[in-house]
Amino acid sequence: MNVRQTLFWFLFTPVLLISLFVGIFLLTTRFHDLDHNLHERVSHITKQVATTSEYAIVFSDQNMMYRILQNALNSDDINGIRLFNSEQKRLAELGKAPSMQDTFFPEKTQLREIDGYLQSISPIYYTSNTPDSVFDINSGLFNPVDQRSLIGWVKIEANTAAIQIDKYQYASLVIFILVLFNTVIILAAFRLATSLTQPIDKLSSALNKLVKGQFSNVKLMTLPPEYASLQKDLLDLTERLENHNEELVSGIEQATEDIRRSMDSMEEKSAQLHIANREAMESNRLKSQFLANISHEVRTPLNAILGYTKTLQKDIEDTQHRLYIDTIEQSTNSLLAIIGDILDFSKIEAGKLSLENNHFNLKALIDDVYQILSINLLTKEKQIDLVPEFSSDTPEWFVGDSTRVRQILTNLIGNAIKFTHQGAVRTKVSLLSSHQQDVTLSFQIIDTGIGIPEQKIHRLFKPFSQVDTSTTRQFGGTGLGLVITKKLVEQMHGKIEVSSAPDIGSTFRFTINLKNSNKNAQSKVPLDFEVALLEPSLTYKNYLDRYLQSIGVHCQSSSDLEQMIAFLNHHRSKLDCLLISTVPGEQGIIETRELVTYATQQFGIPCILMIQPPGKITQYHDLKHLCRDILLKPISHERLYKALQRLNASDPTTTAPQKAISPPYEKLKGLSILAVDDSPINLQLLNHWLTPIGVDITLVYSGRQALDMAESQTFDLIFMDIQMPEMDGMETTQHLRKLPNYQDTPIIALTAHALASEQQQILASGMNAYLSKPIDEELLLHTIEKWCSSTETLQDQIDAKLVNIFDLNKALTIVDGKTDIAKEMFDMLADSLDAEKKLILHHLEKQDTKKLIEVVHRIHGASKYTGTVNIARQAGFLETHLKELGMEDVEGVVDDFIDAIEELLANRQLIPWPALSV
Ligand code: ADP
Repeated sequence: MNVRQTLFWFLFTPVLLISLFVGIFLLTTRFHDLDHNLHERVSHITKQVATTSEYAIVFSDQNMMYRILQNALNSDDINGIRLFNSEQKRLAELGKAPSMQDTFFPEKTQLREIDGYLQSISPIYYTSNTPDSVFDINSGLFNPVDQRSLIGWVKIEANTAAIQIDKYQYASLVIFILVLFNTVIILAAFRLATSLTQPIDKLSSALNKLVKGQFSNVKLMTLPPEYASLQKDLLDLTERLENHNEELVSGIEQATEDIRRSMDSMEEKSAQLHIANREAMESNRLKSQFLANISHEVRTPLNAILGYTKTLQKDIEDTQHRLYIDTIEQSTNSLLAIIGDILDFSKIEAGKLSLENNHFNLKALIDDVYQILSINLLTKEKQIDLVPEFSSDTPEWFVGDSTRVRQILTNLIGNAIKFTHQGAVRTKVSLLSSHQQDVTLSFQIIDTGIGIPEQKIHRLFKPFSQVDTSTTRQFGGTGLGLVITKKLVEQMHGKIEVSSAPDIGSTFRFTINLKNSNKNAQSKVPLDFEVALLEPSLTYKNYLDRYLQSIGVHCQSSSDLEQMIAFLNHHRSKLDCLLISTVPGEQGIIETRELVTYATQQFGIPCILMIQPPGKITQYHDLKHLCRDILLKPISHERLYKALQRLNASDPTTTAPQKAISPPYEKLKGLSILAVDDSPINLQLLNHWLTPIGVDITLVYSGRQALDMAESQTFDLIFMDIQMPEMDGMETTQHLRKLPNYQDTPIIALTAHALASEQQQILASGMNAYLSKPIDEELLLHTIEKWCSSTETLQDQIDAKLVNIFDLNKALTIVDGKTDIAKEMFDMLADSLDAEKKLILHHLEKQDTKKLIEVVHRIHGASKYTGTVNIARQAGFLETHLKELGMEDVEGVVDDFIDAIEELLANRQLIPWPALSV
């Protein structure tokens, strides 16, 4: 309801109610009066007729009766009239009386309404005494009952139709007046409401127009004079709004123009950025390429430096010169390590670092890392306990990239040793979870070194950053170690974190995922020994104690010499051996010598000495003869066990000297080897190593020369450099393999490149193996021995690689031996696999089971006809898993499937399609 309607009803409703009330009141009073008058008149006439007809009835005077009746009938409203005698018999009757019944005769006058007629009945009494005696009060003889006797009745019937008509007329009049009155009121109320609300409506529409910005319409609007001030205000407001609006519009236009201009400049900038980005990517690619090349170029001369240094080391007697040579070797090795880091970093940056899988013994690997890094203690005069702690539930063998695991541990343990001056560096390894083939291991490298301030911890994993530039000077390093470590850990699906407190130490924790290996650590035969241990360091004492107990050795430990001697005196008869850890320094050596002499000469108890760098081994020269064994700390479980085991050998003098003698390479005598390299230094080095042991080596400087030489002569083995001008090593190999005598000749690549894709390329070009520069002499000799004594042909080697991946027979049988069709089908599948792999990972991430099944099903179908056996198998597993269990625990199965795809793509070039092989 709008304002006008509300106001209208507000005005009209009270008037309507009052008029209704007055109307009803008038009608009821009028109706009542009409009824009352009729009743009065009829009952009066009845009584009058009863009185006047008394004598006519007594004297049965019919004429009189009719006269009386006629008289009564003359009055309006009376329809009919009847007289009855005392026996209720009709005496006289005039007029019509349709509803009059002759059965009702009351003793008093009565009025009643029947069927729209009013009936009045009155008894007629005859009064016998005179009027004087009747009113003589004193006589006391007045007896009304005796003097009045009922002589008849008079009944009169009146018609009420007349008064009904009166009522209707009156009611019509009243209603007409009411309707007229209310109509007038309605009109008046409507006019009033309209005149009151019209300005409000106008205002509201004006505001509406203001909102829409139709300012001119608002200005034309007029309000009644009483609203003049309101109209003025409204006009003011309109003008102000109009001005404001104009300002706003011009502001918007200006802003739009600005935005358009900045959009243009942004577009321009974006194009420039795009170009800059392309250039940056290109320069990044060039940088990676440059790093890889430079590392190759640097490794080649380093190879020569290291090789000749090693050669010189054998001949030099003069200690001063030996020191120089050692320093050259050490520096070259550091340089190699830095180049390795830079190459790794550039590989990681270029996303080219891929992990390999091999079986390795983690415990032995950690021992090895400790052993190698402990050399650092020799030069730095530090006293640190290096303790590996392997939790008992952790297996020893795993499948993973052992080189990279070693790199992670070397970086972290190396840092810990570098930044610790005293105390211990402990490496704790524990099993975090093991699910079917997958294991997650947790490592903690805990040191008691200088620590890292909290606010500098965030810098640790940034390339080329070091916590403190002054420490940089003190400690050296490139600041790349932790970045590489972090990337490697992440690539093994793990995480690395660090907690540290200055002057207290640091703890680097990391996890990695490896696969379970089917190899098991050989269980050690328990050694039923009684051993006394002298170990001043509590950490080391606990470490040794725990291990000795685990291999069945009963051990009593002492932390100082007095305790040890007291124990020795008491239990000498039971003891099988003394394990003595020497305290470095003059005093320590004297005490140790005394103890060893006492124990061996007095009681014949063998002693094993454990010395810690920087204790120079030369200081223990005479002890060497007294002791059964000297072990260098950190003591690996393996070496301690072996040393104890050797105690069983009866004669101490027959114990084998510790240094392993180099293996005899007698078998290599007389072999003829071709070495191809564009660098004369490298060739000379090979010559230098191989000629003395009787190998007949031919040196050529290019691929072309190699082919010429191969045609005129046969060789047992060929060493081939990869990067050479004109014809590179791979191309030369491909030509060589086409020569009749060289299909199975072992060809070993000598390369500084180590990217996984290149390794595959090298093998695919027909080479049997590769050696990374700088080349180690031992490894070189070992490789020659291996390949020259092996009956395994190149084809065998390739077959062995492909056996689980690809079945050529199957691929050919399906298409009736038609190689071109089989290869086309295979290529179609293999070409699509890279994209399909991305699709699988995408659907896995989105958890879209239906779409994942579709892709896997597609590959599964195709792989059955292309000889890709492993993919078919893994796709089958994955499809069944998805259909039966959905996404639950599917990650492992997907990983296997993706591994199968990657394995196939990596070895694709090795497949010997019949049409391709000559
Ligand atoms: P660098 O080759 O310089 O050692 P890293 O990336 O391995 O490079 O280490 C970066 C820096 O982190 C180090 O220079 C050192 O300041 C700090 N750092 C690493 N490990 C430790 C540690 N165990 N204790 C104290 N500082 C450490």
